[in-house]
Amino acid sequence: MSNSFHADVRDRLGAINEQNLLRTRRVVEPLGQGRCRIEGRELWDFSSNDYHGFSLHPVIQSAAIKAIEQYGVGARASVLISGWTPAHQELSDALRNFESVGDILLCSSGYVACQGSIDSLVNEDDLIFCDRLNHACLIDGCRLSKAKLRIYRHEDLTTLRRELKKSQSEKVRRWIVTETVFGMDGTLAPLIELMQLAEEFDAYLICDEAHATGVYGSCGQGVIAQLREQGDLTAELIERRIPIRIGTLSKALGSQGGFVASSAETIQLLWNTSRPLMFSTGLSIAACAAATAAIEQLQEHPQKISSLRNSASQFRRHLKDSGFEVWGEENSPIIPVVLWDEERTMSWAKELEAQGYLIGAIRPPTVPNGTARLRISLSSAHSEELIENLIIALRALQTKTAEKT
Ligand code: PMP
Repeated sequence: MSNSFHADVRDRLGAINEQNLLRTRRVVEPLGQGRCRIEGRELWDFSSNDYHGFSLHPVIQSAAIKAIEQYGVGARASVLISGWTPAHQELSDALRNFESVGDILLCSSGYVACQGSIDSLVNEDDLIFCDRLNHACLIDGCRLSKAKLRIYRHEDLTTLRRELKKSQSEKVRRWIVTETVFGMDGTLAPLIELMQLAEEFDAYLICDEAHATGVYGSCGQGVIAQLREQGDLTAELIERRIPIRIGTLSKALGSQGGFVASSAETIQLLWNTSRPLMFSTGLSIAACAAATAAIEQLQEHPQKISSLRNSASQFRRHLKDSGFEVWGEENSPIIPVVLWDEERTMSWAKELEAQGYLIGAIRPPTVPNGTARLRISLSSAHSEELIENLIIALRALQTKTAEKT
């Protein structure tokens, strides 16, 4: 006989706990300027995706408050009924201009933007090639589409090429799904090579720019825009091979929600077929107004982006010089210090917190087994002096661990 429901819940929790993988949550009070308070203690926050500190930026906060006063708190209905307010239209216009596309789909989260658009645009008889480290929302979208799915090892272009070649005899539509910046690694997808493969094997790319929006490109339009600006990809090629780009409002823009950038026709199809959009209430008013104001900030102060990337590059170099295993693209504000072992990662995070630094300890299943890491997330609010102090704290832990082993 099968277990009772409650016994099953207990057993499953016990198994997670035994593997040292039990997650809990705490109340974290954001204070701005890179700080937060937990259980009465103030900490330096190196754990959020709020790379520019926009979630507590006074101009962005005021824009959200003003919009709430004008239009209310919630969108009150699906956008197809009456949940599309002037705040939604303004955000959509701002993003359309920012992304230089035909139209924009607004979603209540980046997760839904990825999952819902892939499910809707990829047909059952298509074939998807998906990087193994892609975010859960991309993988869920691929699964929901019911298309045939080939998972390739992270950034393994040789395998991908071989699999694409094998599929050449099949009369199917081919898709390559990838993040442009891998959120747990800070690495860039090999987009130029992926585009070459897409051209050679007649495939389309679906790109999730969640960690790239606000961080790459001259005004934060993402990695694809940066490659275009550098002359590495042409606008025609991008249009031909990347029919949709997906972004989030919840990270560098400091708000909440997600979006899909595409042609007007594709967006119209998505509004008509993507189930989480059709059957869910529109994005909240505050989220729309805050994101619109955040885009304005990036356009007015693009130096924020270069300064964030310069600090990230310096920080990464110092850590590497100190002998740490640090992954990621040189300028990415996602700085994973790989400690491999789950227990050590947890204990370092605890020790650093005791010293005043809040840093995410990332374990499986978020990352592959044996690659546990501290995911240091840099923000424009972190000063050079603060970063130096964090490096000193990390070095001390390194010495302590070496002495023990
Ligand atoms: N894509 C990637 C690569 C992500 O890292 C995340 C969030 N962790 C999402 C999509 C989902 O975005 P949101 O938090 O806005 O739902």
